[in-house]
Amino acid sequence: MTNYRDEMCVCETCGKPFVFTVEEQRAQEQLGFVVVPPTYCPQCRKTEKPQPGLHPGIVKWYSAEKAYGFLTRVEGGEIFFHRSGVTGDPEQTLREGAHVWYEAQETDRGLQAYNVHER
Ligand SMILES: [Zn+2]
Repeated sequence: MTNYRDEMCVCETCGKPFVFTVEEQRAQEQLGFVVVPPTYCPQCRKTEKPQPGLHPGIVKWYSAEKAYGFLTRVEGGEIFFHRSGVTGDPEQTLREGAHVWYEAQETDRGLQAYNVHER
């Protein structure tokens, strides 16, 4: 395991400094991500616009009963997805801890992942 230190970052949206904590860096590493600082501060992440293209994520949990779940995002935080937004093999894609790609879209309830498929 790498020796991480809290890192000061500057938000690309609001220009405010924020801390990329050791805990966040470790979490990324443990998820198998390349450790990169988030582009936005935690505040702006809540209101950010969806970025086009495919993003890497990890299935945090999925409920077959509710037909939805959440992905852990490489940028930090989580993103909601619905069963109807899954395009990959469900057996592979809906497992907890599965490494997936997704696209993000803005909905009334915030960002939502679609075109979720295994990577
Ligand atoms: Zn910001």
